[in-house]
Amino acid sequence: RSPLAAVDSRVHEVLLKQVRQERTTLKLIASENFASSAVLEATGSIFTNKYAEGYPGARYYTGNEIVDELENLAIERLKALFGCEHANVQPYSGSPANQAIYRALLSPGDKVMGLPLPEGGHLTHGWSVNFSGSDYQRVPYGLHENTQQIDYDRLRDTANRERPKLIWVGATAYPRVFDYAAMAEIALEVNSYLAADIAHISGLIVAGGHPNPVGHCDVVGSTSHKSIRGPRGGFILSRNEDRHQALHHPKNQHNLAKRIDRAVFPLLQGGPHINIIAGLAVALEEASHPALRVYGQQIVKNAKALAQALLERGYELVTGGTDNHMLILDLRDRPLSGKAYAERLAKAGIITNFNMVPGDPRDPAVTSGIRLGTPAVTSKGMRQGEMVQIAAFIDLICREPADPDVHASVRKDVADFCAAFDVPGITDR
Ligand code: PLP
Repeated sequence: RSPLAAVDSRVHEVLLKQVRQERTTLKLIASENFASSAVLEATGSIFTNKYAEGYPGARYYTGNEIVDELENLAIERLKALFGCEHANVQPYSGSPANQAIYRALLSPGDKVMGLPLPEGGHLTHGWSVNFSGSDYQRVPYGLHENTQQIDYDRLRDTANRERPKLIWVGATAYPRVFDYAAMAEIALEVNSYLAADIAHISGLIVAGGHPNPVGHCDVVGSTSHKSIRGPRGGFILSRNEDRHQALHHPKNQHNLAKRIDRAVFPLLQGGPHINIIAGLAVALEEASHPALRVYGQQIVKNAKALAQALLERGYELVTGGTDNHMLILDLRDRPLSGKAYAERLAKAGIITNFNMVPGDPRDPAVTSGIRLGTPAVTSKGMRQGEMVQIAAFIDLICREPADPDVHASVRKDVADFCAAFDVPGITDR
């Protein structure tokens, strides 16, 4: 018996249920993935016990030389993978990373431009119920009505009119590539900071499956647990020097890297989660291998294959397809809401999330869309052929959403289909 089984049979049972679910279902949530057993081992290690407020070489606790070695390793690996000057690996997750970016660059009340949530932006890009929308003035930019892609011309006009201090480029539900060069040009024109949020696409960037914002942006925030397959956490990449020092921080604040570090600790956080930094370091080592390149590119090939198969079955997709790891089914012309379809798909073992689509007439609590992502099924070893089968499963459920017999039979077929694939972190030991 494992220590967990011996000490706490209830939690152990729940864990086993989750393991069974992961083995027998299709995880199509675009923001989820499977961390490897090596990453899980480091994340669940004795580093969870350490307190290490501060940064390598400057801690508020003694006995942290080994932790310094670990944190420096994670930092150096990030800098090498993304080609950036500075990296902070302490943010507890993606939202805290973004919060630190705000605090390092802006004062409360400053203007921030971002993609609104209903069009694919994240809560932290200036949405009303989030600190980013209440503490700062939000200036939304949007999608082109016809293409449903970012309207860079309109964005430029809005930026020139509004003169924001920060522009975000990044999203949580946007299936196309970001034009960082165009965004950098606009930011330069209006003398604004440019921050990229690569939470979803960090693994694709390392794999060469999406352009790298480093070099175009002042700051880059990310989670570490999505396409890059690390533990649940966040990181920030930045330049060392602030290009905007004279304008925004006239008093001795020209070192952007230091401002980011101080915003993370001590302004917003206390002790870093050293076990998470250990897991991140391992994920970054894995990401430096050629296999990650193949994996990241396969994610995109799979998303395109799934999109194509769904289009052939008559489904509408936001922007008409995908360039990255996700696609958004537009179900506005269907009888049920996105939520209702997502719940029925889940009954059949197809795990997704419901999502707003541009111009969605339904409430955000139900929506008219479903977001699908391929990072997790790609981690299981699935390829384009499997995507065609997954599209067939989805279609069966969406065509017969009220028939419990169909749900049950697809549930069984999905479980049989999944049985042929390893589940990283569970069967890769
Ligand atoms: N940024 C983007 C683009 C995201 O999609 C997410 C999460 O989904 C976050 C930030 C926030 O990450 P977390 O939920 O870990 O705080």
